[in-house]
Amino acid sequence: MTGAPRFRFLAIAVIFHLVYIFSIFDIYFISPIVSGMRLFQIERPETAKAPADRLVLFVGDGLRADKAFQSHPEPYPKSNEDLVPRPLAPFLRSKVLEDGTFGVSHTRVPTESRPGHVALIAGLYEDVSAVTTGWKMNPVDFDSLFNRSRHTWSWGSPDILPMFEHGAVPGRVDAFTYGAELEDFSQDALVLDYWVFDHVKELFAEARTNKTLHDALKQDKVVFFLHLLGLDTTGHSYRPYSKEYLHNIKVVDQGVREITELIGSFYNDDRTAFVFTADHGMSDWGSHGDGHPDNTRTPLIAWGSGVAKPQLYPGEIAPGHDEYSSDWALDHVRRHDVDQADVAALMSYLAGVEFPVNSVGELPLSFLTADVKEKAEASLVNAQSILEQYRVKEEKKKTAELRYRPYQALSDNDLSPENRVAGIRQLIDAGHYEEAIEESAALMKIGLGGLRYLQTYDWLFLRALITIGYLGWIAFALTTVIDLHVLHGRLRPSRTLVGSLVFSSLLAALYASFVISKSPITYYAYAFFPVFFWEEVYARRNSLVAGRKQLFGHVTSGGGIASLLFNGALYVGILESLALGYIHREILTILFILGAFWPAAHGLSFLQKHASLSTTWFLSCLAMSTFTLLPALKTEDVNLILIGGGLMVVVGILYLILEDFVLADFSWTEKPASRQHHLSRTLVGIQIGLTLLSMAITRSSALSLQAKQGLPYGNQVMGWVVLVVSLLMPLAHRLQPNNHYMHRLLVIFLTCAPTFVILTISYEGLFYLAFSALLVSWVRLEHVVQNFSPVAPAINKEANGPITESGAGVKLPAPFRPLTLYDARVALFFFVLLQAAFFSTGNVASVSSFSLESVNRLIPVFDPFSQGAMLILKLMIPFALISANLGILNKRLGVAPSALFMIVMAISDILTLYFFWVVKDEGSWLEIGSTISHFVIASLLCVFVAALESVSAMFITGVEVNNPVARVITNGAVAEMLLEKTNEAVDQISATVDH
Ligand SMILES: [Zn+2]
Repeated sequence: MTGAPRFRFLAIAVIFHLVYIFSIFDIYFISPIVSGMRLFQIERPETAKAPADRLVLFVGDGLRADKAFQSHPEPYPKSNEDLVPRPLAPFLRSKVLEDGTFGVSHTRVPTESRPGHVALIAGLYEDVSAVTTGWKMNPVDFDSLFNRSRHTWSWGSPDILPMFEHGAVPGRVDAFTYGAELEDFSQDALVLDYWVFDHVKELFAEARTNKTLHDALKQDKVVFFLHLLGLDTTGHSYRPYSKEYLHNIKVVDQGVREITELIGSFYNDDRTAFVFTADHGMSDWGSHGDGHPDNTRTPLIAWGSGVAKPQLYPGEIAPGHDEYSSDWALDHVRRHDVDQADVAALMSYLAGVEFPVNSVGELPLSFLTADVKEKAEASLVNAQSILEQYRVKEEKKKTAELRYRPYQALSDNDLSPENRVAGIRQLIDAGHYEEAIEESAALMKIGLGGLRYLQTYDWLFLRALITIGYLGWIAFALTTVIDLHVLHGRLRPSRTLVGSLVFSSLLAALYASFVISKSPITYYAYAFFPVFFWEEVYARRNSLVAGRKQLFGHVTSGGGIASLLFNGALYVGILESLALGYIHREILTILFILGAFWPAAHGLSFLQKHASLSTTWFLSCLAMSTFTLLPALKTEDVNLILIGGGLMVVVGILYLILEDFVLADFSWTEKPASRQHHLSRTLVGIQIGLTLLSMAITRSSALSLQAKQGLPYGNQVMGWVVLVVSLLMPLAHRLQPNNHYMHRLLVIFLTCAPTFVILTISYEGLFYLAFSALLVSWVRLEHVVQNFSPVAPAINKEANGPITESGAGVKLPAPFRPLTLYDARVALFFFVLLQAAFFSTGNVASVSSFSLESVNRLIPVFDPFSQGAMLILKLMIPFALISANLGILNKRLGVAPSALFMIVMAISDILTLYFFWVVKDEGSWLEIGSTISHFVIASLLCVFVAALESVSAMFITGVEVNNPVARVITNGAVAEMLLEKTNEAVDQISATVDH
């Protein structure tokens, strides 16, 4: 191997994992959108009219169903009477009770504004690949209700409206949006809703004088869409139980009333249909995105022309109700639940336009006033337009596959779509309407099943390919580790002609099949990696044999083998338990409690000798074990923020007082390893001051935001100044470097402290302290354990001698000690700590557990990209600590800089593979969504570790540790060079042997 094997390895790791993440997009999220479908519409005689001449759609963005119907006390009470709970949306409620039809509309994941609106207005469930386009523009143009209308006027957020305008026939959709600056999180978001209502009123006012507009409004098949973002914004800022959110519901209800009356008087013909709903709900802690029922349940109320009156069951509980709607005081009104895309079908029917061609919505017949014959006709047309999508998709698949396996339920001759449609037509013509409706419903289900069949056609093959790829990576990574860090690159890969032929023809066969099937380009990459990895492993089989001898050579007795097997099982068990930790964070609590007793495993004499260190470890483990028991969803607590910050300051001051003691490796008697520097002490003092400053700013900002006085400009500026200056402090330390590793760790600790304080909501500061304490005691413990354990002398003997025997009998330099089985345990500890950093202060695996409260102190205006970046910064800080500590540990243990990272990169995919296989494609959307995010997180972990390695290298440049091995080589670059020299030597030897 020539070049820098370590960087080659890192590059392969990163590319492989990034490419393979896309596999779930190819498997689970292929865009359902195709084009080329014919349009279907209900045939009506010339004289017959559509159910309504126009449709008004109100979307209360982020309004969850229960809040729309429950009774609450007046949000801003003025008298005692106001404390009596009352419905907050009296107008909408009157429509439910007297006028229209209502129910809960169930959304799918992700519960975000974009997919929610696409389901409502286009009737399709967008695939998650829309994420990659920033959610604003259409990855693929799709049809929509607006595009089917004669004309659509829409008002609302610039994040939502343009995508429907963009996909439609030019000029058909008018979108009136406010500027992004109106979406200010610290301001009252009601202004967003008032803006929309005011502009609608303006339009109708203008129509009184503007003849063209007047005529345009008076046409049939027109749609009005009012996007009301206020609730979403108030929900994010104050959560759905707040008086702000509840008051916002009142404002929306009042606005809907005014617009309904305005339109009623403008047309004065009772030919308008109204639909009120939401794109998604809102969790108790003011977020949405995942599949929690609070996010997926939205209200649906329809009334007006063409909509059925409520079905009342006086004195009893009407059908459709359950526990969820029990406190709405609507028990006697029948509740009709729908899936979100069904709303698109409903609206298209009411407005008398064709179903959007990509729609998979099923028309909810119970919402219609139509007679049974019309309903039967409508369902048949609905079924036909779904089957049309199946026809187009099947056609495409047929031309691409060598041997297409058709969908059973629609493939036999008498089962063909045409025959089935003809059968239903006969039923309608014969007057068997109920039967026809049933048949159409069944046919729609089959059609949707067929669409799913085509959507999942390639799954088995792809899943197998991906699994072999991941296993290949694990094998390849372990082989590389053994090669580089156990055998120090002594053995050359040996390739045979037959081997090369087998692997290359395998790849050629796979590629040929892809060419024929016109597979996406990503398939070629998926197939490349498994072949590449396994070929590499096969070529290095000699290294594996030699590695086995060296690693397991000492295990000869039966007892030894048993203990090895036991430890191996334990190891995999812990890895698997980490997978469970993604769902149950308490698993980490258990691991930390068990880990607290780890020093005891080395016997009483060890504990006696390192009593204080073992105690620190024990206590910090116990402290860490508490965080995963606390709820991931936090409410802002200024006192906890200040306590956390205060303790960080105390740590800094204690260090300044006890610097000599600390730098003498925690000993009163020995001299410090490095002298005190005045400048660097001053710099540490400045860092402590910055932390204090950040506490003051955070307190003031948090209180001001809580009081809804907005974020004072001075606070915002100072917050940013402290954040940037504190992160730049390490540069100042270069003026007078103190290279002792404890000093370096303290500087890194204080560098991130102010940022952490500013971005903290409650107890995270305490986590930061406990985690730092744990890391430092871990680094110190591993070091003493290595020197103490029985294996240690052997290691040290080998490591101390800078020269080892090479296989070819030539003396070669070996700068680092080779890895042993023992180091696998170190890597496992690292991996557990990595997971703890992810899950201690929140649940990374759940989008909802991120609250924007902390970010509002720096960026008060809604801006998903920058705000997300700030959240990620906060999330990354513990990892900066980990990587610095692991880098130092590497040095203290005397192993090569990348060795431990590489082991982790190999074993982390055991987790990825586990998550890949438990990804759910059926069941609740909560499960599907979270299993997929688990997979993505697990596979990014490896990339992340690769990045950490370079961060760690940066943090520890020039650091001195008290270790005889590491002193030989203090710089990774030298080691790299030596390794290369070794390789060159081996190259020459093998060349001479060959000739
Ligand atoms: Zn939304």
